[in-house]
Amino acid sequence: MSDRIHAINVSSSSDDSSQVRYVDGYVSSKVYTRRIRGLFQRLRRRIAIPLVMLFVLTPWFIIDGRPAMLFDLSAQKFHVLWMTFWPQDGILLAWLLIIAAFLLFAVTVWIGRVWCGFSCPQTIWTQMFIWIEDKCEGDRNRRMKLDQMPWGWEKLRRKSATHSLWLLVSLISSFTFVAYFYGPVELLRDALRFEASLETYFWLFTFTAMTYLNAGWLREQVCKYMCPYSRIQSVMYDSDTFVVAYDQERGEPRGVVTKNATLKSGEALAASSAKGDCVDCSWCVQVCPVDIDIREGLQPECIACGLCIDACDMVMEKVQKPSGLIRFQSEHVKGSIWSRLARPRMIGYSMALLLMMGVFSNTILTRVPLGVDVIRDRGMHLYRVRNDRIENVYTVKIKNMETQINRVVLSVAEGAPYRLRSHRVVELDPGELLTLPIRVTLPKDQVQFSQSTIHVVAEILDRPETRARQKTLFMAPAMRLKLAGQ
Ligand code: SF4
Ligand code: SF4
Repeated sequence: MSDRIHAINVSSSSDDSSQVRYVDGYVSSKVYTRRIRGLFQRLRRRIAIPLVMLFVLTPWFIIDGRPAMLFDLSAQKFHVLWMTFWPQDGILLAWLLIIAAFLLFAVTVWIGRVWCGFSCPQTIWTQMFIWIEDKCEGDRNRRMKLDQMPWGWEKLRRKSATHSLWLLVSLISSFTFVAYFYGPVELLRDALRFEASLETYFWLFTFTAMTYLNAGWLREQVCKYMCPYSRIQSVMYDSDTFVVAYDQERGEPRGVVTKNATLKSGEALAASSAKGDCVDCSWCVQVCPVDIDIREGLQPECIACGLCIDACDMVMEKVQKPSGLIRFQSEHVKGSIWSRLARPRMIGYSMALLLMMGVFSNTILTRVPLGVDVIRDRGMHLYRVRNDRIENVYTVKIKNMETQINRVVLSVAEGAPYRLRSHRVVELDPGELLTLPIRVTLPKDQVQFSQSTIHVVAEILDRPETRARQKTLFMAPAMRLKLAGQ
């Protein structure tokens, strides 16, 4: 916790420039963020609200009689929209994570930690909790005063309202999260009837407590000390990265503008001061959710939320100076944020991303919901000779990755007359993994090599286009037979 001595604006309204007054000397160990309006605050809300709605509502959408997104761990099935994935599809998850990480790196190289400032769940939930606190306890100064007050009815009333709502939001968040694994209707029914398992109550309680602690109490501490991403961001930045920065040349030397001076016209103010544009009001610090002073330069804690930009622009408007004393800019100041996209590093990142996304989409679109794996029987001889045929024995594993019962036909797909001597058609339940031995034979007089590559094919009986194949080796005493036949 910071023990920095903050300048406190004692005004209750942030809109009235006449009330920009400061009282020094308050030692804060808690970050009291000031309510602010502006472009970035609006942007954060417009990004956060749809994301929260998406998170909360997704499990309630029903597709094919089950939630649109359901991670059924006990059945090892992962339903995402119209598709069902199995543990065998883990490679897709790995791809997705790699793409997400790469996207994050690319965006960070371009515009810094905007993920943290605008769409990270920690930031969004903290934003929600601060909004509740603000509604129940008032703006920054009221909250500070309330915390300094001895306990009484007023404090009890306001604090109870804040913490009750925090707990309610935490419970809804926790319920939603667990519903992704349980199903929302079933979870609501079982939890209310006390029919859910102890494990389910444990997770509901744990996620509620974690949300309440993280967003209500820990807040910026998570970003500063727990999030590993803040530690590695500095190696991703280069001199073209857009970051939130204070214009030192324009702002310094900073200085407090007196109330009277602030109230004068813009010309009078400019004439009366040889100082830079920064009026040292500390609003940029007061709105900062991670409690840093951006005027001290770029710091690893900065989550690029842009609130200090909004705050400073408001102050600049009040003192009738141009906005943008704090702004998104790169070390190479020339050019817009878009021009920073067209540089070799970003082009390289974008192309790699496009390639990975293309491969991922293609894998999803051409994914066959049927798996086949063929293993040669290790305990057996390489081959057996029966009548006039050479026989190889294998173990085949067939996985039905659909949510319906399927009849699967097995065959050997090669030009030579290989024949499958067992288990031509098998029936599999949804998600069933069937293991069975198969025998493949070849007439002796057709043998050409001591080992040949064959493909075992599995296809759904009434949908032959849904087929999977697996390569294996067919072993035979080729040389001896050939010699004998000569
Ligand atoms: S310094 Fe500005 S951009 Fe960075 S976290 Fe604080 S308010 Fe957000
Ligand atoms: S908000 Fe702007 S004017 Fe006020 S202290 Fe920060 S940089 Fe200076």
